[in-house]
Amino acid sequence: MPRIIPWIWPATTAESNAEPALYFDYAATTPVDERVIARMIECLGKADTFGNPASSSHAFGQRAKALVEGARQQVAELVNARPEQIVWTSGATESNNLALKGVAQARGKPTGHIISSQLEHKAVLDTLGQLEGQGFSVTYLAPDQDGAITPQALCQALRADTFLVSLMLVNNELGTLTDIDAIGRIVREHDALFHVDAAQATGKVSIDLKRLDVDLMSFSAHKTYGPKGIGALYIGSRAEGKLQAQIHGGGHELGLRSGTLATHQIVGMGEAFAMAREHAESERERISALRERLLKSLAGLPITINGNRTNHIPNTLSLTPYYDFALGNELALSSTSACNSASNEPSHVLLALRLRPSEALRTIRLSLGRYSTEREVDRAAQLIRSALTIPVP
Ligand SMILES: *Cc1c(COP(=O)(O)O)cnc(C)c1O
Repeated sequence: MPRIIPWIWPATTAESNAEPALYFDYAATTPVDERVIARMIECLGKADTFGNPASSSHAFGQRAKALVEGARQQVAELVNARPEQIVWTSGATESNNLALKGVAQARGKPTGHIISSQLEHKAVLDTLGQLEGQGFSVTYLAPDQDGAITPQALCQALRADTFLVSLMLVNNELGTLTDIDAIGRIVREHDALFHVDAAQATGKVSIDLKRLDVDLMSFSAHKTYGPKGIGALYIGSRAEGKLQAQIHGGGHELGLRSGTLATHQIVGMGEAFAMAREHAESERERISALRERLLKSLAGLPITINGNRTNHIPNTLSLTPYYDFALGNELALSSTSACNSASNEPSHVLLALRLRPSEALRTIRLSLGRYSTEREVDRAAQLIRSALTIPVP
């Protein structure tokens, strides 16, 4: 197995002896792995693979097409799907749009019921808001105390006209997991389609689409050490023919998503997902140990941990201190999800967990990843510890 190349973070300032910034925001995005970069570069410039993958009449196009199909295979393998079930998009945002609008609008008339949750990413919530404006009715399930969307909550919300359920596998702010196994069975019994946003899950939890009752699944490369601007949508057999395209043009990707395929991006995503498959287990163990170390060094501080502490992925930690505090910018983390950070409003996810707005606003999300080290964890804990220690007057 190829070794992961360790990463030395650049210093925050030009001063050579400044300590490098501490990156604790892997849930917002990850750096592109060196091995992925190398593969991407091979597809650029005058390499013999720069051709248009749709140019089937000459070798330049055929070579590019072969690379695209190889990557499709790599993405499919990570989630145990067939390559022809994977459609390239520009990221999980577009995948979510294609899945939700695609299924709703293919119905012909804007009626019927969709179930989702209050914990979803904005790429799902805002898309569903659009569909509500068009006449569809949407129920947003509330989480239980632990931040979980339960099968029971889903059962209570199902209606005769429910045709689509959309839930995320891993929550981007809490790191909590949804039981898509149990929920999928219920949705299938009801004969509705089940869409899962798995942007935060790849490489962190194993996904077996042959076994799961999931019809549509969204992926993103840049949360899994691939490049930004590329993603995919899995379309299972029950959803086949039930999606309306959202981007029209040359009829690429089974007519579902037109546009010249970005060979280098696609190859990057394929390689990143292949690496995720190779390293998933060892990475999970390593990051779990780092998380335990972090929790141990934060023990005794006036903080609450949000979300279920057993049913979670190890890399994400949402902490609410009991009072306001100031952290310097040496520690790169999110005050909420990256998308909410821009608006500076309390996170809708934390409000759904019934945190007060003031508590939500001082909550921090620490997320660990492939290049996190014990030393970084210790320094982060130290910074948080000193920020939260009230000086005795
Ligand atoms: C990051 C993220 C998205 C958006 O993915 P992009 O590829 O950046 O468009 C969607 N859903 C979840 C859960 C995410 O974490």
